[in-house]
This record gives sequence, structure tokens and C-alpha cells, in this order.
Amino acid sequence: MAFNENGRIWFNGKFVDWKDANIHVLSHVVHYGSSVFEGIRCYNTKNGPAIFRLKEHVERLFDSGKIYRMEIPYTVDEICDAIKETVKINNLKDCYIRPVVFRGYNELGVYPLNCPLEVVIAAWEWGKYLGEDAIENGVDVGVSTWRRMAPNTLPNMAKAGANYMNSQLAKMESLLNGFNEAIMMDYGGSVSEGSGENIFLVKDDVLYTPHSSLSILSGITRDSVTKLAKNEGIEVKEEAIPREMLYLADEIFMTGTAAEITPVRSVDKITVGNGKRGPVTEKLQKKFFNIVEGEEEDNFAWLTFID
Ligand code: PMP
Repeated sequence: MAFNENGRIWFNGKFVDWKDANIHVLSHVVHYGSSVFEGIRCYNTKNGPAIFRLKEHVERLFDSGKIYRMEIPYTVDEICDAIKETVKINNLKDCYIRPVVFRGYNELGVYPLNCPLEVVIAAWEWGKYLGEDAIENGVDVGVSTWRRMAPNTLPNMAKAGANYMNSQLAKMESLLNGFNEAIMMDYGGSVSEGSGENIFLVKDDVLYTPHSSLSILSGITRDSVTKLAKNEGIEVKEEAIPREMLYLADEIFMTGTAAEITPVRSVDKITVGNGKRGPVTEKLQKKFFNIVEGEEEDNFAWLTFID
């Protein structure tokens, strides 16, 4: 992942140079984690750059903001347009887009509503999140000792900066223990999600994923995979998954904007299936990449072209 420091960043409605997109150290967000954000990918299809599920991402940004009483001073359409402009002005094709809404500088104290709301959109090139060969060969994951936030603590349905303190604990632990990624349990001890991905298991040709009440972020890639699977006639069950199912699954994969669809080859050093990417994972990956790369008809209307 490399930033293009010659790029331009959309900052409260205007483009500024990369080096000028700064905030004060006493901004509310720096002290209390008061931000909501999105991660969105743009793909260089054969018909030009196209953003994957732009509207759904921007709507989730507004939903995250609503939970935290953040009244974003733009419409969904205005933010969608600003995102397209950001990709265009930076001449990007394959890229990752990061809109972030945060509480800025005015006063400090937990109460946030006297601090101004700032809206920023940046974009840069970002390759495969879990490593170049991960999409084919999979990753080794470990179950984290850290659990996902319990209900009524930090809302998992908001994609808020503060939630990623929990993700960071799990991610650091997993990497320091020699894994590529963590899987967290929910407060009740059933499977929840990764530090930045949702999780799917295949057992006897049925696809399982934790229900939205199990402390997950309702991923847009998760939703896309569910739709693709149903379209392929694969049964999808959203339910509570016991930890040990991770050891007994035929296939496991993780989904997310950054991770896309990444197979899991071991959990806690126990090999998943035969240790190779399974047929259901491969089939769904193929469908997904064919659509986002413009090789197959976009029947779900998931792509927003830049031009
Ligand atoms: N869970 C968490 C904690 C995440 O950070 C992400 C990445 N946004 C996901 C799930 C996957 O969501 P999406 O597919 O919308 O990127």
C-alpha cells in the first residue's frame, strides 16, 4: 500500500493538496475516536474505472453517522459525486477510497456536539490486503482472545473509528502469534468476524455466516457474496456458528472491501479441509472478480462508472 503524496484530497467540499489535508492535534476525533468512515474499491474494468457498490457504501456512512448523531452536511448523492471526482482528479483506476467523517477542533470534553463535523475523501492505490498470493492460497488465522464488542457497548453496525481499537487488539495479537488475520468470537462465544472482514464457512455444500445480531459489521461484500451464492443455487444460512465449526468446515473464506474474498487455509493451526482453496470459494471468487473487473454482465447493478 503506497500513498501518492502528489494526490489531492477532498476536504469539506474542496480539493486540497495531499500535504495540506491536516487537522489540529486537539481535534475531538484524536482524543475520543469520534469518526465514522467507509472503505470502497474502484476497479479498472475493461470499460474504464468503476466503483463497487458506491451508493450502498455511502448509505452505510450516513447510517453510521446517524447512530452517533452526526448530521453530515451533504446528501448521499453529493458524497457519491465527490467520491467519483476524487478518483477522477487523481487519475486513479484500481484504487481504494476512504471517506471519513469526524468531530473536529473546538473544545475538549467527551460531549461531542460542540465540535464541527468534518468530511474528507481520499483515494490511493492499494493491492491485495492480505497479501498477493492470499486470494489463491489462503491465509492462516487464529481465534483471538479478544472478543467483538458486546451489544450496547460500541455499536457494531456503525463503521466507527473507535471500533477499530478492538480490531487492532485482535490484529496485533494474531500477527505477533504468526497468523495473517484474527477471527473474533462475539460476547456469547460464537463466531463473529475478522478484524476487518466477515467470515463464511462451507459445510456439506451449505454456506454459513454469522447472523447480523452476532456483533458483526454488515459487510457489503458479505451481502454481495450472499446474493451471488443464492444466484448459483447455493443454500445460505445466517446463524450462530460455534467455534469448533471453524475446525470442521470444508471451506472457510473471509470477505471485505480490502480483503475481497480470501480463503482461509488454517484456523489455530488446524488445516481447513484439504488446505487448498475449495470449490465453492473458487466459484464465488470467480463470479465476484468477473463482475468487478467487467468480464461478466453486471446484472446486480453494482458498478458505478467514473466516466
Ligand atoms: N467487518 C469489519 C470489522 C470490517 O472492518 C469490514 C470492512 N469494512 C467488514 C466486516 C467487511 O465489510 P465490507 O464488505 O463492507 O467492506
